[in-house]
Amino acid sequence: MNNICQNIQKIKESIPEDVTLVAVSKTKPVADIQIAYDCGQRHFGENKVQELVNKQPQLPADIKWHMIGHLQRNKVKYIAEFVYLIHSVDNIKLVKEIDKQARKHDKVLNILLQIKIASEETKFGMNETLLAEIIQQYQQGIFPNIKILGLMGMATNTPDKQQVANEFATLYRLYETYRLQFPEFQYLSMGMSGDYPIAIANGSNLIRVGSAIFGARDYK
Ligand SMILES: *Cc1c(COP(=O)(O)O)cnc(C)c1O
Repeated sequence: MNNICQNIQKIKESIPEDVTLVAVSKTKPVADIQIAYDCGQRHFGENKVQELVNKQPQLPADIKWHMIGHLQRNKVKYIAEFVYLIHSVDNIKLVKEIDKQARKHDKVLNILLQIKIASEETKFGMNETLLAEIIQQYQQGIFPNIKILGLMGMATNTPDKQQVANEFATLYRLYETYRLQFPEFQYLSMGMSGDYPIAIANGSNLIRVGSAIFGARDYK
């Protein structure tokens, strides 16, 4: 038995209508994704290029695929053709490569810039200085084949809810600052199974939820 459909429905009922739910299907079989799809879910997230490339052709073409994991430059070419939104853009060389690959496919690719808000050393993301630099170049028209749709962040993995809330609030303030200048800014991607209610309370409008939908992951 699985409760994938029920889990999705429960989450959808508990979040505001304008919050996009990305179902994070990493490590889960195509059959599970199909169940979620049949239940009406259309946004799915994966964190590994190889896995995304394997699954995409086996599933309905109208799925909106989100790349949420750390992305190496030399792998952008494998997902450029079909990916809907890349969340995890955290350096300028990657921005350039995405722009280049999008141009090859004669399209514009949607990205989010990942900002480091967590206190853990291991978490990825750029700082505000680099963010400002990339936005400035973007405004100058240096990356004509990308569209920056907003920001993404991951909070510290801690039971301290106040710390998590503070980290999300910090990112929300940054997002709001840029949203006033960029009409295309529309996504603030923050919140996972363990912290999405706190994320939404602090301004998130795109949550990435895996285990609360598909169950715990088995990495064996
Ligand atoms: C795996 C993952 C998620 C989902 O995590 P859960 O705790 O299973 O909801 C969200 N965001 C990123 C970047 C991930 O890698």
